[in-house]
Amino acid sequence: MKFAILGDIHANLEALERVLQDAAQRGTDRFVSVGDLVGYNADPVACIKRLKKIKAAVVLGNHDYYASSRELPDNFNPIAKKAIVWTRRQLNIFSRRMLARLPQTLCIDQMTLVHSSLHQPEDWGYIQNIQDAKQSLECQTTPLCFFGHTHRPAIYRMKNGTIETIDSETVTLEPGYKYLINPGSVGQPRDRDPRTGYAIYDTKTKTVSQFRMEYDIETAQKKIEAAGLPESDALRLAIGR
Ligand code: ZN
Repeated sequence: MKFAILGDIHANLEALERVLQDAAQRGTDRFVSVGDLVGYNADPVACIKRLKKIKAAVVLGNHDYYASSRELPDNFNPIAKKAIVWTRRQLNIFSRRMLARLPQTLCIDQMTLVHSSLHQPEDWGYIQNIQDAKQSLECQTTPLCFFGHTHRPAIYRMKNGTIETIDSETVTLEPGYKYLINPGSVGQPRDRDPRTGYAIYDTKTKTVSQFRMEYDIETAQKKIEAAGLPESDALRLAIGR
């Protein structure tokens, strides 16, 4: 079984289509997402529809939460807030309901999905270093967990309380370790590489591989502009930040 793991799509349909095309070529059987389907980019409803069509299993991201509730986040910058308010206006009742019903975490076949961290996931903390990873890994009950939120690919593993990072595009899962992996962001990468990215978990070979691809950034930028969304959200796509 091959799972495609999609992180932080953020309403970027051009990037999502490119990833789905690549995943199909690689023989993906199932799709899962670590949340943030909406926010920043201009195609929230189309992205939600697309994920429904491929029957993706999805967990709740902070942007999904705020876009589908009446609450406004205190810790969002004004640009992110503007995109949330815009997104709320785009959502129809079905897409809003779909977002509002997303679970905070999911377990599928020995694999856990979470947007932020398994340590108090509703607080939306970031896993950015070994210390953050440790807190999440200590709450992890499956050998493998995927997370998002930072928009940067990362691999951590823990054995007997010792944690290390793995700086590689492919990792083979070894028994006795717990793995905590960020597949990167489909719709707004922030590791200074503007290419879209995702990961494939192959249960047969016990490997997780990360992939990056060029996509039609220009069209995504034009849509942001036409929608009246913040210009900085268009500019950042080209620099991957
Ligand atoms: Zn995000």
